[in-house]
Amino acid sequence: MAVQKTQGFVLRREDLRETSLILTIYTRDFGKLKLITKGARSPEQRSLSSYELFVLDEIVFYEKRKKNIFFLSQCELLNFFPKVRESLERISYATYLIELLDRVTGIGERNLALYELLKDCMELLSTKASPKRVARIFEIKLLSILGFTPRLASCVNCDKSIEKKRARFSLSRGGVLCEACFAKDRRAVPILAGTINFIMHIKDLPFDKVKNIKVAKRVGSEVEGLLKNFINYHLDIRPRSMDFIGKVGL
Ligand SMILES: [Zn+2]
Repeated sequence: MAVQKTQGFVLRREDLRETSLILTIYTRDFGKLKLITKGARSPEQRSLSSYELFVLDEIVFYEKRKKNIFFLSQCELLNFFPKVRESLERISYATYLIELLDRVTGIGERNLALYELLKDCMELLSTKASPKRVARIFEIKLLSILGFTPRLASCVNCDKSIEKKRARFSLSRGGVLCEACFAKDRRAVPILAGTINFIMHIKDLPFDKVKNIKVAKRVGSEVEGLLKNFINYHLDIRPRSMDFIGKVGL
């Protein structure tokens, strides 16, 4: 691989020996990469801001003798997301977005839709938009890109279209059951029509159209719990940052 140039978000940083760092960056053109930055922590390096979590950088890198070890040769900060860093709540949600993205992606798997989603959500998180709403949009669109969206338009058992007010949600089957099929999962729980509508809208509409969608508090809480359980059950992920958000009550 020749010298390459792209843009990406810092997902993780780990110290390497005395003065270097290993950065995990989710790039637009190459997916997730681990890159070594030699001397990044040396005293001569005055600013480390381009290596902070969830910044957007423009990077130049090269591969060491085709060994899948990449070296960062230039790193220019494009967006530090200062508005996000002013609030513990927004920092916590930004940390959640990058943790979730990190957990669902493998090294070198390019996915432009996921990259654009993270970029859109980080930009939305920099406005006055509710961080909870940004997190729900991110979760729903991410599940949709990965092909894991909860099935809500028709019954997961018999495929008939459901009457929203009488449906139940089956976590293990990944979607709604119609009244005739309730017995297929005794653990299925009632679901609000507002929850079904919200998730389907976010999934189907382009980002520009969904960023202002507001919901009643009751629906917001139900959507939050449902997606948390869904991600935990179907992707086997329980993000630590979301536990923190829950504990602190953000
Ligand atoms: Zn059914």
